[in-house]
Amino acid sequence: MTETTYISIGSNLDEPRQQVIAAISELENIPNTNVITVSPWYCSSPMGPQDQPDYINGVAQLETTLDPQQLLQALQNIENTHHRKRQEHWGARTLDLDILLYGTQIVDQPDLQIPHPGLTTRNFVLLPLADIDPQLVLPNGTPHGIPLVTLLEICSSEGIVRLSPGDICGTTG
Ligand code: AMP
Repeated sequence: MTETTYISIGSNLDEPRQQVIAAISELENIPNTNVITVSPWYCSSPMGPQDQPDYINGVAQLETTLDPQQLLQALQNIENTHHRKRQEHWGARTLDLDILLYGTQIVDQPDLQIPHPGLTTRNFVLLPLADIDPQLVLPNGTPHGIPLVTLLEICSSEGIVRLSPGDICGTTG
């Protein structure tokens, strides 16, 4: 069965803008998967340790017949080709790909939670998601039935800027 899924994309190392643009092509190459829409890009301050560059963040909407675990594996393969090293929690990274939503499914496995636990509180996820689909209704397990715009109202808008083509992102360029 084909499901609509939303992937958050972030980078703050080694030419972040090129990392995220390359990631879109790589998402397009995942078998049984199509990229439907890509949000505008945002520049955001890092979560956690502040001694790292700003991030470029966005969201891609995909359609896929892969199941959630197959999709996670495909995303981790892409991260690995970007020489992603799993070091400090919330530390700098060349590429971070997270599954935000997978249809209306709830997944609660040791290595995979969907909806992504950070979805409702992170402005760098909520803003690009709302750009793609402001009417999106979150499934049970997240604040059920609360529109994205309401979550955005209660989420801090500090430290994030929508980028236009050619804009420089803070400390990452
Ligand atoms: P991060 O450092 O944010 O990339 O977290 C990576 C870890 O989060 C991986 O080991 C995944 O197994 C786990 N994980 C749990 N839920 C998700 C999700 N929805 N999307 C991507 N990774 C997830």
